[in-house]
Amino acid sequence: QKQIACDPIQVRWSSTEPYLKNDLSATDYRGYKGHDMLAPFTAGWHTTDLEPLVIQKSEGSYVYDINGKKYLDALAGLWCTSLGGNELRLVAAATKQLKELPFYHSFWNRTTKPSLDLAKELLDLFTANKMAKAFFTNSGSEANDTQVKLVWYYNNALGRPDKKKFIARTKSYHGSTLISASLSGLPALHQKFDLPAPFVLHTDCPHYWRFHLPGETEEEFSTRLANNLENLILKEGPETIAAFIAEPVMGAGGVIPPPATYFDKIQAVLKKYNILVIADEVICGFGRLGTMFGCEKYNIKPDLVSVAKALSSGYMPIGAVLVSPEVNDVIYSQSNKLGTFSHGFTYSGHPVSCAVALETLKIYKERNIIEQVNRISPKFQEGLKAFSDSPIIGEIRGTGLLHGTEFTDNKSPNDPFPPEWGIGAYFGAQCEKHGMLVRVAGDNIMMSPPYILSLEEIDELISKYGKALKDTEKRVE
Ligand code: PLP
Repeated sequence: QKQIACDPIQVRWSSTEPYLKNDLSATDYRGYKGHDMLAPFTAGWHTTDLEPLVIQKSEGSYVYDINGKKYLDALAGLWCTSLGGNELRLVAAATKQLKELPFYHSFWNRTTKPSLDLAKELLDLFTANKMAKAFFTNSGSEANDTQVKLVWYYNNALGRPDKKKFIARTKSYHGSTLISASLSGLPALHQKFDLPAPFVLHTDCPHYWRFHLPGETEEEFSTRLANNLENLILKEGPETIAAFIAEPVMGAGGVIPPPATYFDKIQAVLKKYNILVIADEVICGFGRLGTMFGCEKYNIKPDLVSVAKALSSGYMPIGAVLVSPEVNDVIYSQSNKLGTFSHGFTYSGHPVSCAVALETLKIYKERNIIEQVNRISPKFQEGLKAFSDSPIIGEIRGTGLLHGTEFTDNKSPNDPFPPEWGIGAYFGAQCEKHGMLVRVAGDNIMMSPPYILSLEEIDELISKYGKALKDTEKRVE
């Protein structure tokens, strides 16, 4: 059994120590100690005892903190700033729209040109299945909440009041509003929030390395998961199951690409029981996997799609739901019967967000972003894969510009390091020390860099990862 090379209790606390002690004068931070924000996804020990990392400026693939320290932004903000930190065309698009029409809504058949244009662009761009309408939200969570409302409305219209349950997967992340957190399959999002809501069921996480049986191939694993899904549907009653929601590649759950044949087999089961397919493309959409959408890559034929994040390169908050013609026809006739489709947000189709998203999509086309992602991603993936032999790494996985590292002992999914050792947190802190920001969740590390990364910047990313890994290996002897 390996030992941690320090007092385990100190691990968590020391996660930012090197950087507070050595790298910064930190004077500017002190004013933020115990700051006033109830900060999202931040532990109490972060907000009350340590100064937050205050980011002030961005430039290309880099961000700078308030003390001028430069970091390679290997998560692209929160998996979103696909075009990096200072794309002036997006700034110009926002400014132009702000000057002309900073706001008008889209209720009661009033709307704005940017929202109409963006809806058309999105429908043209999504080709995995024909989509008829786009509904705008401000976030991925709102998009997924909207999915549930649309599906319920649809089934009520069809006279199927019992067909209301949703199946999501353990380890999925679909957002943090009441409903999207319920769909998410991460216990931390449910604990003490009285979630998940009772209509949500969770089926297997398709993580082959972690969950396959001895001797089981990827294809056999996928067959078993599809059988488990079918058994769940039969147990609950197919007449009660409305929809299945999935990220093409699981993101926040640890970057988990689907095993071979997974989506084919899962979709066959869903089709058999007349269950709608919802693709959550919030991370995967707009090129991140080397295809415009994850649905293209894995041959997913969704009835409904959620998008956000790279839709505007994160420059303005915006999300959208794409609706198939079949679902739309039902919603449309039901709304006509009721007199209105009573769902929407003040900022649905915000003209500034839509203008920025339109310019983002234009840039993707002009710069052939898919080609760009496919040009740089092999170097990114292969460079990181080279660390697979590290004695503290259980699995390195990813595709396109998405990467996950999972630290475990003995290369085994069944030998996690004691959580109090804080291996993931320490690695993340070392990345910060070396000037790179990654996502840490327990002993999982995730990266989703901007698409504009140069080949030299990939070298830098890999070198910083390597240094942080060496530092972390030294602590476990
Ligand atoms: N769906 C997926 C796959 C996500 O990764 C996220 C956010 O990370 C969401 C939905 C929620 O999006 P938002 O944070 O914009 O509400």
